[in-house]
Formats: sequence, C-alpha cells, structure tokens
Amino acid sequence: MSAARPAYDDNNIFQKILKGELPAHKIYEDDKTLAFMDIMPRADGHALVIPKTGSRNMLDIDPADIAAVMETVQKVARAAMEAFDAEGVTIQQFNEPAGGQVVFHTHVHVIPRHDGVKLRPHTGDMADGAVLAAQAEKYRAVLAAA
Ligand code: 5GP
Repeated sequence: MSAARPAYDDNNIFQKILKGELPAHKIYEDDKTLAFMDIMPRADGHALVIPKTGSRNMLDIDPADIAAVMETVQKVARAAMEAFDAEGVTIQQFNEPAGGQVVFHTHVHVIPRHDGVKLRPHTGDMADGAVLAAQAEKYRAVLAAA
C-alpha cells in the first residue's frame, strides 16, 4: 500500500508571492502561471515557473495546470537562451522531501547553462536583489519582443 500524500497547504512562500504578500522579481505572467527569479540561483538566470492554482507537486496537480506550466516553461527556456546567451537549459522539478522538494507549491526550475559551468548548490547562497532585478528585466525584454 502506498503512503498517504500530504494535502496542499497554502501557507507556503510561493502562495504568498501569488497573493502579493511577498515580493518576487517577476518575469512573465498569464492567467494560469507566473514565472519569477529563484532567490538562491544555481546559475545566472535561474527562474521558477508556478501554477496560480494551488497544488503541492506533480503528484496532486491537475493535468491542465501541468500543460499550462510547461507552456510557460518553454517560453522562459527559449527566452533564457537569448537573454543569458545560454548554450543549453536545465529544467528541474522536485517532488516531496525525499525527492528534493523544499517549497510545497508546484514549481519547475529553468536554469540557463553554459558549457563547462557547473551548477551551484541547490538552495545555496541568496543572490543580490539588484542583480536579480536586472536579470528579470533581461527576461522581460526578450519575452516582450517574442
Ligand atoms: P525545491 O522545492 O524545488 O527543492 O526548491 C525551492 C526553490 O525555491 C529553491 O531553488 C529556492 O532557492 C527557491 N526559493 C526558496 N525561497 C524562495 C523565495 O522566497 N523566493 C524565491 N524567488 N525563491 C525561493
């Protein structure tokens, strides 16, 4: 028998960002999704894409929200190639603590990559706010021109 899955708890950081209770460097928004800069980036331009509807992760999310999130992931990944002069993009997604998840609102990581440059640690050092603001602006400029 499989273990019972925990229910979604809307007292999480990303829900607070969605409600405007916490700030974020936003890069893209539509009716179903929001993309913003990761505060502890594993590489320059590390972004997160979340659904606006609350779900914990891939185990409880509505498939329609997966589709919406992945559409935005593709937009952000393409923008990352241009905005950060990237040579590739790593897309990551973690489920439950054993799967490496730390924030329990579904999210997908979009990480611009360059040949030979290793990722920094997951949930490592906090980035400078001004740097994140400038990187978010780069994304927005590319997305606006797309
Ligand atoms: P995961 O749950 O996928 O393991 O990791 C959560 C991610 O959220 C990490 O990459 C971490 O840096 C990021 N993160 C944690 N707290 C905040 C926050 O308050 N704001 C933003 N923008 N990102 C956060």
